[in-house]
Amino acid sequence: MNWTQTFIPTLKEVPADAEIVSHQLLLRAGLIRKLTGGLYTFLPLGLRALRKVERIVREEMDRAGALEVLMPALQPPEIWQKSGRYESARDVLFKVRDRAKKEWLLGPTHEEVITSLVAGEVNSYRQLPRNFYQIQTKFRDEIRPRFGLMRAKEFVMKDAYSFDATDEAAQVSYQKMYDAYVRIFQRCGLKAMPVEADTGVMGGKFSHEFMVPAETGENEVVYCEGCGYAANVEKAVSCVPATTGEGAASIGELERFATPGVSTIEALTRSPYEVAGDRQIKTLVYMVAGKPVLILLRGDHQLNEAKLTGVLGVADFRPATAEEIFDALGAHPGSLGAVGVKELNVCADELLRGAVGMTTGANEDGFHLRGVEVGRDIEVKQWGDLRLAAVGEPCNHCGKPLKVRRAIEVGHVFKLGSKYSEALGALFLDESGKQQPAIMGCYGIGVTRTLQAVIEQSHDKDGIIWPLPVAPYQVCITPLSVSPESAVFQLAQAIHKALIEEGVEVLLDDRDERPGVKFKDADLVGFPLRLGIGEKSLARGEVELKPRGGQLIAVKSENAVTKVLEWLEGNRV
Ligand code: ATP
Ligand code: MG
Repeated sequence: MNWTQTFIPTLKEVPADAEIVSHQLLLRAGLIRKLTGGLYTFLPLGLRALRKVERIVREEMDRAGALEVLMPALQPPEIWQKSGRYESARDVLFKVRDRAKKEWLLGPTHEEVITSLVAGEVNSYRQLPRNFYQIQTKFRDEIRPRFGLMRAKEFVMKDAYSFDATDEAAQVSYQKMYDAYVRIFQRCGLKAMPVEADTGVMGGKFSHEFMVPAETGENEVVYCEGCGYAANVEKAVSCVPATTGEGAASIGELERFATPGVSTIEALTRSPYEVAGDRQIKTLVYMVAGKPVLILLRGDHQLNEAKLTGVLGVADFRPATAEEIFDALGAHPGSLGAVGVKELNVCADELLRGAVGMTTGANEDGFHLRGVEVGRDIEVKQWGDLRLAAVGEPCNHCGKPLKVRRAIEVGHVFKLGSKYSEALGALFLDESGKQQPAIMGCYGIGVTRTLQAVIEQSHDKDGIIWPLPVAPYQVCITPLSVSPESAVFQLAQAIHKALIEEGVEVLLDDRDERPGVKFKDADLVGFPLRLGIGEKSLARGEVELKPRGGQLIAVKSENAVTKVLEWLEGNRV
């Protein structure tokens, strides 16, 4: 392909509304263009790279035995009502109406559709296991579309769904997808790490997210360098010693004391009170299914809402408003506590079990209680791990201090169980003739997000550094003269032709531009290998190979094609 015949609108300036470097480079290298926030057009070069990622995904799904299908993007709301997600996922659903004013949904994901399909087609254990996948455009009404393809309103996802007859078989299906994901991200040249992820109300341990470490990532990963433990912060656990009486100022009597103007944990740690954070009980009020619930944590700990979902068994909750809190406890945030509270549900973090000599709000503005004993003074109805694991806390497995880093979620494997198969009737007869719901798993990869994550992870100040397997073109030939009769251009054309015949994806920069412009653009777009041909070196019978981000290699012009092929072979992933 000649540069002048394709369309690569590179930009010198950094686009003002692109905050992160991968988004800037997608625009600057002429890979995508914005239509409006969260909606992008893939230009020829961007589409080539996207197709490469798709191809890797497809090959690995096929290798793992998943079967490709293509489901409608437009979905009837009835199946979403059946699964209960018409309500629970309403925030992300795009709804459209047809001429008869009937409502339709633009699919944000396809559990309901695939389960309806399987409900109609599978009725015996002999037809299982099955795993269906598709690569398709999804639609989500994201609150904050941003960072280009990272969080878009419309994006390409690979979604797969497994159906199994037994729990053990479902775990095998899960593992196959997990392994396929490891290979996919490796082949894309990405360093992605699987981390334990939240399972919501489902519970269980079969949920992993594949995370690409990056400062600009929207997720936080807690990890241990000692034993390799890694989990999304929503799921992460740590091993903080139990709260004993040690260091407590007053053990024994419950005592009310005045704390005028004190409304934070921090304020109470200061003079004249000097109650350490770990000697305080933090009381939060949440509305759970419409009722106030008190959530207790140690003062130095933060609530993890994902864990709260697991402990309460429902996802329908939110922090109470100041009014709701006053109605429930007769005091304002800053003076709240659970001492003597009997009528409300009190849900506490495990680390408060048996804690003595604690300080908490007195449910009276400007007063606190000290000498509090959990159990004696506070009646806890529900216990659980509610705490956000924090950096420096000991790893639960090996005791080494935990670390935290930001990351981009590029994929997610999840054991679903029978939620959807029960709701949508994906039932089968087992060996003994008994009807059972299929055990499901779902497996997503953000294909467009993966493409951008590659750039976020692999670039320098000059531009993108494409890993060979996903580069839009593997080689860019840069002749320093393009006049038809020049030896330089003639050689460039001959090498271009020969490389195409060898099946190499090669672009010939036939623009009549200054060498500086061409080199800058080649670096910006990030071709893995540039072949420079100039008059001076050609006079010595040489051309120059320049791997992106590597050293220049002079080669004899007659060996150019062989050397390029050797380089490509040697750098295959
Ligand atoms: P996130 O927490 O980032 O919103 P999610 O949990 O909603 O992701 P899934 O429903 O598991 O994501 O979708 C599978 C994959 O699709 C994700 O791992 C991610 O790579 C990608 N993805 C999700 N939402 C978007 C989006 N708005 N734009 C681009 N890719 C997305
Ligand atoms: Mg989401």
